[in-house]
Amino acid sequence: MRIDVVSIFPEYLAPLELSLIGKARQDGLLDLKVHDLRDYTTDRHRTVDDTPYGGGAGMVMKPEPWAQALTAVAAGRSGDAGAPDDGGTPESAGPDGAAKPVLIVPSPAGERFTQATAHQLAEEDQLVFACGRYEGIDERVLEWAAEHFTVRPMSLGDYVLNGGEVAVLAMVEAIGRLLPGVVGNPESLVEESHSDGLLEYPVYTKPSSWRDRDVPAVLLSGNHGKIAQWRRHEQYRRTAERRPDLLVEFDAGKLPRADRTAFSDLGYDVVDGRLLRRPDA
Ligand code: SAM
Repeated sequence: MRIDVVSIFPEYLAPLELSLIGKARQDGLLDLKVHDLRDYTTDRHRTVDDTPYGGGAGMVMKPEPWAQALTAVAAGRSGDAGAPDDGGTPESAGPDGAAKPVLIVPSPAGERFTQATAHQLAEEDQLVFACGRYEGIDERVLEWAAEHFTVRPMSLGDYVLNGGEVAVLAMVEAIGRLLPGVVGNPESLVEESHSDGLLEYPVYTKPSSWRDRDVPAVLLSGNHGKIAQWRRHEQYRRTAERRPDLLVEFDAGKLPRADRTAFSDLGYDVVDGRLLRRPDA
């Protein structure tokens, strides 16, 4: 996969050289490049922002540096930092019908980035991330870019960050670890929180007794069926406690009797394949 990140703080993305993502880059599993938006300005001060039309607080990112940067990145000539574009079409944005690169624009006003989004984006050939700052990017950039990219404004959560860089670090890590070969044991991607609409069960390691706290006995029993059932029921308990909103979407239609009982103990009945919280629970 090819990933390009455009930012006015390229050094903010340095953690992407570390750990599993850094290794994936070294191993050639991920071709990731970070670009300085200011390399695509043409004035002496390398200006990327201006005052908002209509008034109000803060500054807005100017459209032209973004058009120059995104055109160069999509055409794969990002080495020509600052080379002005004639306003045309990015070459890789397929007049021949080839898939458009996906342009992800981090924004608190975007769609929510989830594990399902990460899986979806991990299937793409090229992702481009446009890190906003200040009050965000001139809206016309997104309209223009839609001709050349599949544009997806994407939010990390319902809070406001200072810039898109932190959101990109999170999204690239979530997507990158799903690429084949990045995580050593692919099994570990299967039973994770959000992989099946539930939170993960609690995990323990040695010693079996620590500061008067014992590991649940079933985990030491060697009975794989019982362990699997205990883990499933712990997933239900934890999700009901911490993220009951996830249970609204949970498909309970095919749950075995023991699992329905586990949910019933948590105050949920299965009605038409869905979990319904009892009013008295
Ligand atoms: N004025 C914008 C609004 O209210 O929607 C917020 C701008 S914020 C201060 C600056 C930049 O931080 C945004 O352009 C975006 O790139 C990034 N950002 C802030 N919160 C974010 C979030 N929850 N998810 C993703 N990116 C975020």
